[in-house]
Amino acid sequence: MNKLKKDILAWITVIIFIVIIFVLYNRLEDQYMDLGEDAPIPIELHPLVEEKKDILLEQASNLDIEVVIIEKTRSIRRQNELYAQGRSKQGDIVTYARGGESYHNYGLAIDYTLQDENGEMIWDTQYDGNGNGESDWFEVAELAKNLGFEWGGDWNNFKDYPHLQMDFGLSINQLKRGLRPSYEENKE
Ligand SMILES: [Zn+2]
Repeated sequence: MNKLKKDILAWITVIIFIVIIFVLYNRLEDQYMDLGEDAPIPIELHPLVEEKKDILLEQASNLDIEVVIIEKTRSIRRQNELYAQGRSKQGDIVTYARGGESYHNYGLAIDYTLQDENGEMIWDTQYDGNGNGESDWFEVAELAKNLGFEWGGDWNNFKDYPHLQMDFGLSINQLKRGLRPSYEENKE
């Protein structure tokens, strides 16, 4: 009888403990949600990304490569439209990210392409316009990586050659919850 009482007491303790953990966890989630409301989706590039983008254009220009930025911050709506392409709409698949799942949606990514001296866009990643025996596209990717960008051409499953991003150590899930990189912390 005594053992039964002990068992019941043990179970009650465990159940109370689980309930407390559950409540605390939900409070924590709520805090993140509050933070989400305080952290709107940016409409401009993060200042550091903007700054590094300008340096990239300058460094590429010094190598006689003209880089054109074709995409910066993207709205959630536009991301959803792009996601539909090749799925519910016609065309080739251009992204694996739904609205809110791309670093473009948080002002942390840019897409680039090249331009020749006549102002024609170059999409050929093997193009060697400056004639130094190296692909201009990859030269730009190398410069960008040295500036702290992650390059989509390095991804394993879906190679996104025009894509450059800075995640500031934040996952898409954290960004979706409303966390944002602070500029001051990352300023050099
Ligand atoms: Zn991109």
